[in-house]
Amino acid sequence: MRVMKFGGASVKNPDAIRNVAEILGKFSAHPLLVVISAIDKTTNHLELLAHLARDGKEQEALDQFAAIKAFHLKMVSDLFGEGKGEAVANQVNQLLREVERIVQGILLLEEFPSRTYDRIVSYGEILSTTIVSGFLLEKGQQSIWVDARLLVKTDATYKQAGVIWTLTEENIRREVLPLLQPGAIVITQGFIGSTIDGKTTTLGREGSDYTASIFAHCLGADSLTVWKDVPGILNGDPRIRQNTIKIDNMSYEEAVEMTFYGATVIHPKTIKPIFNRNIPLHVKSFLNVEAPGTVISSQTNATVIPSYILKKDQTYIRIKPKDFSFMEELLIREVFDQLYKSGVKLNLVQNSAISLMLCVDNKPQNRDFQSLLLDKFDVEMRTGLRLHTIVNFTVKDLKEAADAVMVQQHDNKIFIVKE
Ligand code: ASP
Ligand code: MG
Repeated sequence: MRVMKFGGASVKNPDAIRNVAEILGKFSAHPLLVVISAIDKTTNHLELLAHLARDGKEQEALDQFAAIKAFHLKMVSDLFGEGKGEAVANQVNQLLREVERIVQGILLLEEFPSRTYDRIVSYGEILSTTIVSGFLLEKGQQSIWVDARLLVKTDATYKQAGVIWTLTEENIRREVLPLLQPGAIVITQGFIGSTIDGKTTTLGREGSDYTASIFAHCLGADSLTVWKDVPGILNGDPRIRQNTIKIDNMSYEEAVEMTFYGATVIHPKTIKPIFNRNIPLHVKSFLNVEAPGTVISSQTNATVIPSYILKKDQTYIRIKPKDFSFMEELLIREVFDQLYKSGVKLNLVQNSAISLMLCVDNKPQNRDFQSLLLDKFDVEMRTGLRLHTIVNFTVKDLKEAADAVMVQQHDNKIFIVKE
């Protein structure tokens, strides 16, 4: 069986949804599970709605709610045709009544805990899958809608929930395996899950790829396909670099490094679950179904192409013991304890006799980290930097390192932190 994932851009308007239905039609002879994200920017729109409510901006919140509602209802009427698709429109209306109730709750209580954030944004995926599944049925395809919240079990770290693998695998195998018949398309939501007592959680923004990987892992899928609006994984961001080329094959390891260091084409957490079951990941264009895309698997690349990845908004931190002590194991441990406690997002580490150098994402918690160290260490921070990662770098690329704040090289990878 196969798992496929369609992101927000692939269902952004009625024609896009028709295209998705056509693609699924081509593959439905084999058992198929499909993970879908919220339509277009709906997650951002729901987030804004919740923030307006939290800030007590009642009228603006109600306007924002009305816009989300009108957008989804128009999608249904455009897709099904005027006066048709009544059952789906009713479901959409019902779901939006639930969203409205949550908004009223936020306005009333003037409180917006992360738990409520997860509840409200989860409706983006519930709405999109309801619409797509309804449309498939209307077209005569056998579509089965399943609720990912009942299957993907997580801890209670709202907004960034950690998967409870044993329960999730049990649930998915018990509930989904029997549904996976040739001709049937099982549709579920990306990004969302729930705690063991049923409170809705989310797996982190852009987390639908990860959901697809969770399902592929638990079902022991033959493959996972992530459909994108690009031809596959390119060797650089075409918005920044000229003459980017598509990479045909990539190893899991290369894919992990590239996504961790800022390649946004797939979510960094996607690789591990499929790597552990040796499931190949295809990244393909929903605009060109026949084109082969990029395959990520245990096969290493035959042709070596340099890839350029950029991560912006980086902070360089240099930590030096005030009393000129060596930066030895015990002190390094102390620094790392504080790093972990304050929740800093670490990208690179380097040490010398009396310093420890870090490259981290620019986050408010960096200040907490700094203040925890100040008694004992001098801490220098430089913000506004960029981390360039080059996989399969060439000698020519080394000149990039000349004016760097920090450079690291291992195997075929070089990391350069500079302005
Ligand atoms: N809809 C969610 C988001 O926009 C998840 C996803 O798109 O992957 O963050
Ligand atoms: Mg999205």
